[in-house]
Amino acid sequence: MYKKIKPAQLFDGYQLFEEKVLVLTERGTIVDIVDPADAGEDVEVLEGILSPGFINSHCHLELSHMKGIIEEHTGLLRFVNQIVSKRYADPEAIPAAIERAEAEMIRNGIVAVGDICNTTDTLFQKEKGHLYYHNFVEVIGFEPAQAQQHFDTYKVVYDAYCERFHPRQVSLTPHAPYSVSTPLLKLLATFPGNQLLSIHNQETEDENEWFLNSTGGFKALYERLQLKEVPVAPEGKSSIQTYSPYLPEGQQLLFIHNVFTTAADIRYALDRFPDACWCLCPNANYYITNRLPDIPMFQKEGVPLVLGTDSLASNYSLSIWEEILRIQKHYPQIPLEQMLSWATINGARALQIGERYGSFEKGKKPGVIQILNDTINRLY
Ligand SMILES: [Zn+2]
Repeated sequence: MYKKIKPAQLFDGYQLFEEKVLVLTERGTIVDIVDPADAGEDVEVLEGILSPGFINSHCHLELSHMKGIIEEHTGLLRFVNQIVSKRYADPEAIPAAIERAEAEMIRNGIVAVGDICNTTDTLFQKEKGHLYYHNFVEVIGFEPAQAQQHFDTYKVVYDAYCERFHPRQVSLTPHAPYSVSTPLLKLLATFPGNQLLSIHNQETEDENEWFLNSTGGFKALYERLQLKEVPVAPEGKSSIQTYSPYLPEGQQLLFIHNVFTTAADIRYALDRFPDACWCLCPNANYYITNRLPDIPMFQKEGVPLVLGTDSLASNYSLSIWEEILRIQKHYPQIPLEQMLSWATINGARALQIGERYGSFEKGKKPGVIQILNDTINRLY
């Protein structure tokens, strides 16, 4: 026996339709999309939009206990500084907050997550199998001479995830262009398990300032850290154009944030990484720096966009729908249909799980959600 649902609008992962009926099995496997005239009896009529489950392409579940701890609009450098100094403040609060945050994502219609891990703190919750996770074990290491040491430290975390997850769900990934030394980036680039990478890219103006002019907040940070050598030597090019040549050509990767990315940067990256996806985390950008990326420019360049919540340290909730609402506020000209495709099929492809998630296509089991008056109801 099949279930048949006729919503006011049906979004199949690509397009919004009116007057369509979704046919699926009782366990949520998609059978077909048909016209009401061909649907037969027992069609359930629903208000709102029916959509495949959302993909949260960028999150840090392990920072969930930091909700509300860091004030808004501090700028990235002060923000990162506070993450480092305050993240271990209350270790007992960490597991409970992780459990609550995952439950929040489930309520908000999220079915799969690209999650950044510096530790194994989230393993206990992920093992329960409530959501699909791609675990990006994220490497940070400033001092070039200690690259191998930094690599080995995070490789231990990587191995722990690989014990519980299929290796294709685990990557050893660089944090950001300014926090991973060049020899460490080279070690990551040649690591055989990395069929998918992510990197925080051009989140702050200081990043390009360092790479272009050897000045700005990162120069001051490196001096404060009393490094023997700077992590990455500036070459008079933007950050993305400086580090990209160190990563393998054709690498599948997610560029995260992209607030200060230019059209020239996009074209440069597209040439080297034709399959790269560009992840927008607008609420986190608003929280940290009160500035959003030039999203219409990304659309003009025709590159795939995806959406992420970042962590609760820099967001009010873990909700992809709230990210869409934030974009709508700043760029009301962007059609909802496009943003929904970023939240579904594009996210699924970015996390390499398009064969199951992201769209209503025969045989897939992508989760089914109803969007009604800015609330999300999970149906499957
Ligand atoms: Zn992040």
